[in-house]
Amino acid sequence: MRIVPIHPEHASRLQQPSIDRTRASSPVLPASPTNGAAVLLDRLGRPFTDLRISVTDRCNFRCPYCMPRTVYGPEHRFLPYDDILTFEELTRLAGVFASLGMRKLRITGGEPLMRKDLPRLISMLKDVAQRGGDPLDMALTTNGALLARHAAELKAAGLRRITVSLDALDDDLFRAMSDSQTSVTVVLEGIEAAQRVGLASVKVNMVVRRGCNEDQILPMAEYFSGQGVELRFIEYMDVGTSNGWRMHEVMSAPEMLTVLKRRFDLSSLAREPGDTAMRFIDRASGATFGIIASITSPFCGDCARLRLSSDGRLRTCLFAPDGHDLRALLRQGESDETLASFIARLWTARSDRYSEVRTSPHSHATDPAPGPRPEMSYIGG
Ligand code: SF4
Repeated sequence: MRIVPIHPEHASRLQQPSIDRTRASSPVLPASPTNGAAVLLDRLGRPFTDLRISVTDRCNFRCPYCMPRTVYGPEHRFLPYDDILTFEELTRLAGVFASLGMRKLRITGGEPLMRKDLPRLISMLKDVAQRGGDPLDMALTTNGALLARHAAELKAAGLRRITVSLDALDDDLFRAMSDSQTSVTVVLEGIEAAQRVGLASVKVNMVVRRGCNEDQILPMAEYFSGQGVELRFIEYMDVGTSNGWRMHEVMSAPEMLTVLKRRFDLSSLAREPGDTAMRFIDRASGATFGIIASITSPFCGDCARLRLSSDGRLRTCLFAPDGHDLRALLRQGESDETLASFIARLWTARSDRYSEVRTSPHSHATDPAPGPRPEMSYIGG
């Protein structure tokens, strides 16, 4: 593969790296300790290992913090079908990313189960191998509304891990937070179906928003600790610009921990590099919990993720204003080698650490950064 390094002075202005088929210089890529293959490092020394693919920008919920109905009402124009990457294009790209060191692949949306025939995509992606031959660690994030219907075929297609977003057990609050007519029972049935069909890992993510659902922390923890499901609490984030995020709505990780300790005897578990969650175990029951302190304790330092939107734009950070157009390269017939070189140059020029910068002592941490940011429903969480 030919990789052309980008001078740091130019990297911050990088919009769409040109394709250079003439130069053969390459950034220094140390060998992986596991398989001896070169590791792709960004400008802060972070290896590329994770990719999140959004397979649709559509969702059956209108959670005010993600897809507020005032913005995503009947007038909203979702991406036309032809603009969305096909399963064949996604699978081909997954192979290219795997050749660059991808080990983990998460499928997101919008709501990914809104994408027709999603199990067929899963079955295609499961044949993509990591360098070294191991299967990819593939997971899916869903709101769970359609999960009971699809859990068995997802498992049969080769999915092993699933994460369900659920912010409340109280049905009225759940309907208000999802701005939908779906009952919380439907989502719980989806989670039970995922366990019943034998998915190896079923987790639940709860976004905690002060003044809204913090009274659900203990009911959720008590319910899922008895179900063998790891519950992860997420600080309310300033993703996108349509939700009017304000810092005072963030319930911090230490505050959540204080609430949990009223009921559980928690001790810390070791955090794996690249893990977004601090993890805890209840000594009495063995139940595990996670807390994702995206706002108060950012984890940019070992962020190993790229994000691909459903229309094929690649972002080096959840908050990166610009995406880089892989769909155009695919559809103009570029080779896998050229695609890999393009992606590698993007990664080696990467210096994003938005959340760390926003919480640094010199920034105004109580405000979201000005300027355009992609909406979560477009880029995937
Ligand atoms: S802010 Fe960007 S760099 Fe930091 S953890 Fe999030 S996606 Fe990674």
